[in-house]
Amino acid sequence: MSLAAADDLLPLEIDPRPCELCGRTIDQHHCQDDGEGPLFFCWDDGDLVTAWELADPRDAWRHTGEAPSPAHVRNSDISGSAGRPPQYRTPQATIDAFRIVLDAGNPDRLATWLRNHPADAPALLEMLEAA
Ligand SMILES: [Zn+2]
Repeated sequence: MSLAAADDLLPLEIDPRPCELCGRTIDQHHCQDDGEGPLFFCWDDGDLVTAWELADPRDAWRHTGEAPSPAHVRNSDISGSAGRPPQYRTPQATIDAFRIVLDAGNPDRLATWLRNHPADAPALLEMLEAA
């Protein structure tokens, strides 16, 4: 293997074994390259927190010397779910109750029950039409 090819390998391809000191794989170590090739060192717990904070745009300012991000950034959700409404699913107990009211055969009672379950009524009626 030529040196150029070795430089293209990912650390995990070079040594996939877990570290004897910390148990992490080589790619999860602090990498230092002073021109002689990369050297990998275990993070101590303080270094690990630093690495996590540097990787998080909300906390990186703690280590970069930049001004803190505005509060709406520091307190934001970076999970990618922001802006999407929470998913609602009609609970099985509500579906079971709907079937009981439906089987009772009283249209007025069914209409009242559906009015009292506005979040579930569209899905329940759709389910009824599909059946
Ligand atoms: Zn280690």
